[in-house]
Amino acid sequence: MSGGYYSARDHVGALRLDCDVVVVGSGAGGSVVATELAASGLRVIVLEEGPRIEGPLHGQMRPSESMRHAWRDGAFTAAVPLGDTPAINVTMGRCVGGSSVLTGGVCFRVPGAVLHEWQRELGLEDYSEAGLDPYVRHVERAIHVEEVPVGMRSRSTALFVEGAERLGVPIKAIRRNTKDCNGCGRCNFGCPHGAKMSVDLSYLPRAVAHGADVWSHALVDRVVTRNGRAVGVVGRILNRPGGAPGDRLEVRARRVVVAAGAWHTPSLLRRSGVGHPRWLGRQMTLHPGFRVLARFARPVRGWQGALQSAYTDAFEHEGITLMGLFVPTGVLGATMPGVGAEHVAAASQIGHLAMFGGIIHDSGGGSVHRGPGREPVVTYRMAPGDRAKIPRVITLLAETFFAAGAEEVFIPVLGLRGLDADAFRKTDLARVPASRIECASQHPLGSARMGCSRENSVVDPDGRVWDTRELYVADGSVVPTSLGVNPQLSIMTVATRFAWRMRERALPPLD
Ligand SMILES: Cc1cc2nc3c(=O)[nH]c(=O)nc-3n(C[C@H](O)[C@H](O)[C@H](O)COP(=O)(O)OP(=O)(O)OC[C@H]3O[C@@H](n4cnc5c(N)ncnc54)[C@H](O)[C@@H]3O)c2cc1C
Ligand code: SF4
Repeated sequence: MSGGYYSARDHVGALRLDCDVVVVGSGAGGSVVATELAASGLRVIVLEEGPRIEGPLHGQMRPSESMRHAWRDGAFTAAVPLGDTPAINVTMGRCVGGSSVLTGGVCFRVPGAVLHEWQRELGLEDYSEAGLDPYVRHVERAIHVEEVPVGMRSRSTALFVEGAERLGVPIKAIRRNTKDCNGCGRCNFGCPHGAKMSVDLSYLPRAVAHGADVWSHALVDRVVTRNGRAVGVVGRILNRPGGAPGDRLEVRARRVVVAAGAWHTPSLLRRSGVGHPRWLGRQMTLHPGFRVLARFARPVRGWQGALQSAYTDAFEHEGITLMGLFVPTGVLGATMPGVGAEHVAAASQIGHLAMFGGIIHDSGGGSVHRGPGREPVVTYRMAPGDRAKIPRVITLLAETFFAAGAEEVFIPVLGLRGLDADAFRKTDLARVPASRIECASQHPLGSARMGCSRENSVVDPDGRVWDTRELYVADGSVVPTSLGVNPQLSIMTVATRFAWRMRERALPPLD
């Protein structure tokens, strides 16, 4: 039995389908569940709002085109800051493969300390390192997780490592889901060489080979429930000019899996009248992130080499992880200060710039609200303890670059030009208002958290929405706390566990 890829944009008239399991969203969580269930012989349909973009096309698109086609809101989504909080630009994928298509490929298992917290605070007894081991190993094989060799590090990362060694900070190699990566550094705009094993390449083709149908341009509005049981989904296919919502979409299913990502899953469940309101859309964590650029006298050419190859968890006890990154030069140019000739002079230094980033293992402060249109509005109130870490992250990054010989650093504070070591040390970062701090996130999590009782969660330890039969959530929204590390492997591990448990449960007939 073979399934296929279909574009609902090309479909004329209402689209009505039946299946065993319908999966809403084709990202890291949804694709894993769809593939595991299709491989077990179930008839699976995946519905994805975004387009399907095949590998080589990623290489043909400029970053600005990629943002328009593959990213949510052209990459301009933001969490609205409340209180002493910077505005946070939150990026996500909106395409077949979801945000997995845009990753740097970084893979971390759920840290042991985080699992202990889940067991202690949420009663998630099965979520131990030993308990998750079969699932994580299965995923690591499927997405080909491998360590980035030192020889593939960019000069940008190598310089940071030099500085860290001088300061006695241990640096570790990152593992990524890649196969035959040539280090071209384009990962965040989709891999043009098919070397990054995002779920559109590592999972979905297997789902299709086992009979799953993957529909792009299919926007789900709500889950249909009858007598306390999920029986399908309804929405619109995006077949109007410009991809606007058009004809009706109706899928009847024996089981529904929502995997629309932590940003959208809460709204979808709320519109469907399911999910405990105490936790649904609450406590979203973001891993607020900051990056520092450093200018060196000698050329760096930071774009050559694996985008992300080294990190340090030496500050994990402070709730901080530092990690290598780089962005394409066109994007970098737009972040340089000055206008006119001054900007040209600054941008001409791009070949001499190195970059490293840091994320905060945050305690949650995100709330998902109903927006004026299709998109939710997310507010984020940073906890005082997390806010206090921002100067520390920036200082750790800047001082490491100075230790490596950087002439000046560009820190994520609006209105500041490059600072040499003296000027940086005279800058009182603790007094910089939140409104001047540049902050970004790629890791929304926890907005439909899992737990062991309906009093502390939206879904149970197997992903089942409390009090609605045959309705599951399997994406970043179930991850109940922030992780302190990049989440894709954790999301896929949890999704695999959910799928294997689903396989053991008989399905009711279509309603
Ligand atoms: C630029 C970038 C870089 C990243 N780098 C890394 C990294 O190196 N390592 C790492 O571990 N993580 C990384 N991440 C994070 C990682 O990609 C995500 O945590 C992960 O993909 C989230 O999985 P998910 O299933 O929750 O959601 P997603 O993968 O975002 O998938 C959700 C899908 O649901 C679709 N959808 C939403 N609503 C609907 C609807 N109503 N109807 C139909 N479809 C819908 C969306 O379009 C989307 O495709 C990165 C993310 C970004 C954006
Ligand atoms: S660096 Fe490797 S994984 Fe990233 S885009 Fe280039 S070939 Fe693909």
